[in-house]
Amino acid sequence: MTLHPLKGFPSTLITQTFFLKNEVLESRIQGLYCPAGDFFIDPRGNVPRAVVTHAHSDHGRPGHGSYLCSDTCKPLLKIRIGQDCRIESLPFGKQIKIGEAIVSFHPAGHILGSAQIRIEVRGKVWVVSGDYKPQADQTCEAFELVKCHGYVSECTFGLPVYRWQPEQMIHQQINHWWAENARDGRPSLLFAYSLGKAQRVLAGLDNNLGQVFVHGAVYPFLEHYERAGARLPAVIKVERGQDHDFNQSMIIAPPAVEDSTWTRKFRSARKGFASGWMAVRGARRRRNLDRGFILSDHADWDGLLEVIKATEAEEIKVTHGNGDALTRYLQEQGSNCTVLDGAGIRGEEEE
Ligand SMILES: [Zn+2]
Ligand SMILES: [Zn+2]
Repeated sequence: MTLHPLKGFPSTLITQTFFLKNEVLESRIQGLYCPAGDFFIDPRGNVPRAVVTHAHSDHGRPGHGSYLCSDTCKPLLKIRIGQDCRIESLPFGKQIKIGEAIVSFHPAGHILGSAQIRIEVRGKVWVVSGDYKPQADQTCEAFELVKCHGYVSECTFGLPVYRWQPEQMIHQQINHWWAENARDGRPSLLFAYSLGKAQRVLAGLDNNLGQVFVHGAVYPFLEHYERAGARLPAVIKVERGQDHDFNQSMIIAPPAVEDSTWTRKFRSARKGFASGWMAVRGARRRRNLDRGFILSDHADWDGLLEVIKATEAEEIKVTHGNGDALTRYLQEQGSNCTVLDGAGIRGEEEE
């Protein structure tokens, strides 16, 4: 379990609670529900039919009767929730009818297989974004803009302090750090979430610098990324009992193992963390890290504003984060935007 760096962050803004109810979507205790198609999107609890945006644990949860996701999401979701779950999948862009609703998946650019879900009921179109990122990422499908009447947007990084640099710059910073550590004869232990971020970091590594190792939580996703076209360096999975010389190497591991015995092998390592939260002053210091790399799989402030505007949606609901600042800004611009509560909770996000 990783602590959310912004958890308990004092909010001077008023938290609004708004629910959604129209012919396409309504808020229910388990999450967003489409009455015309009788399905939920990224639900909690146990529902008969879940339509899932992506395989992160705060979206694709175990316990539902059946699942529908994108084709490239399916093998990742199976790893996460179990091989025996009933999961059907669709290629991006293909429309199907579920009851009275027309449903299709469109790339969200967040991690491999991540989708925005477009739902059309009697000519009204709503899009549920899931997590998304309009910036370039060589390890997943490029974000696709979908015009709609209503847009449910995530807002994980919905504050103007969050502005990302191009990923090439971050990859360069990581390689530079690795080269420096290798020169000093020290391993580089870089924490990155096991699904999405770890693969994105791997794709940017210069493997002339040394051997790359990965934690067992990162490893099972790699073949699916490669099958989907991501170019990743050769890696060795760190196994119990095996001994390697790690001194010049890069080791990618999930932040959950940061304080565990697993990291003992790498006692002399310099430690880094790749996450959008590294943009928060003090987050790196609190975690006792040598370096923080600001690499996020979510839209930054400008990205959120650009996408929301470009959808031309008449109604905007923000969720999955602290949406007060974004809502206030959009309202000042004349948008019909409110915070949607109950459809997303903070704290268990994998970013
Ligand atoms: Zn996610
Ligand atoms: Zn999420």
